[in-house]
Amino acid sequence: MITNYIKTLQSNTVLTKTFLEELLELADDATNFEILRKTARETALSVFSNKVFIRGLIEITNYCKNDCYYCGIRKSNLNAERYRLTPEIILKCCEEGYGLGFRTFVLQGGEDFVFNDATVTEVIKAIRSKYPDCAITLSIGERPVEVYETWKTAGADRYLLRHETANTGHYSKLHPENLNLDTRKECLYNLKKLGYQVGTGFMVGSPFQTRENIIEDLLFIDELKPQMIGIGPFLPHADTPFKDYSPGSLKETLKLLAILRIRYPKVLIPSTTALSTLDSKGRNEGILSGANVVMPNLSPLDVRSKYLLYDNKIALGTEAAENIASLNKNFAEIGYEISYTRGDYSPNL
Ligand code: SAM
Repeated sequence: MITNYIKTLQSNTVLTKTFLEELLELADDATNFEILRKTARETALSVFSNKVFIRGLIEITNYCKNDCYYCGIRKSNLNAERYRLTPEIILKCCEEGYGLGFRTFVLQGGEDFVFNDATVTEVIKAIRSKYPDCAITLSIGERPVEVYETWKTAGADRYLLRHETANTGHYSKLHPENLNLDTRKECLYNLKKLGYQVGTGFMVGSPFQTRENIIEDLLFIDELKPQMIGIGPFLPHADTPFKDYSPGSLKETLKLLAILRIRYPKVLIPSTTALSTLDSKGRNEGILSGANVVMPNLSPLDVRSKYLLYDNKIALGTEAAENIASLNKNFAEIGYEISYTRGDYSPNL
């Protein structure tokens, strides 16, 4: 009975591998899948009403010192046309975003050491002093704890760092040897300790991923207790070693979104760009599975086509910050609307 499994998810019971195995198997059934999604939807509605939080995504650099096998901006991709925004341009993006109603800016990029500790600190301070009412989220990879601390003191509020996979063997199939899961996890725990609102997550359907790996991901999330969880389908990029692998599935992503929402009613969960790229209805289907955040693209128009993590990544239309009115119309079709607040995690909701 799926309802018994839903009750366990909603309780404080520690999740086990066997429980998750059985739940995922039950959720393969079409009727159970719909029951899960409906429960997730009702959970999100009861906490956040019909509101979807927006974050202005500024892709600050596509230079990266890393070589993750799945990623289109990996350093070995010599076909990637590299760019790096100046602090002035980043501030211009914030100005435009503020005018459009955004109250959270997400600075995301490859691990680009031209964006060194001091430069990022200056950018954070400038945004913080100009927009004291806005949340600043960083997503620029692994750094020493001291650096995370400096950035927190400078005014950063949140940090997104997906763990990618919680299985060591699987991690080594997705990344070269110099990257490892322990360091990634250590960064996440450091960020939490420093008081950041922390986001983690993984790609659904990444090459070599097994159901057992997904269970390990869910168990890791249960242990970390992040305030934000980002999952989206893996999508291949033609200039990576994974170019011939199949994309992750819409159904599997929606199923996992629903499970996460039921387990963590108050957590912030985006309906990701990857989901919208995979399926034109993906964004709204994500919301209808319990997601409550979207991250429209606020990067300058001339660089949007260069931050290509996977093939055909969308950055225009309703994915573009400047088209926020059509995004709202799009949400209205399913009975939702944009919330123009900062959308912080709150344990007291
Ligand atoms: N460098 C930072 C980091 O490592 O967290 C942030 C940028 S990184 C490109 C952001 C996320 O993009 C990754 O955490 C990964 O999950 C996702 N991503 C990269 N390549 C992808 C692909 N081919 N399909 C789906 N998601 C991908």
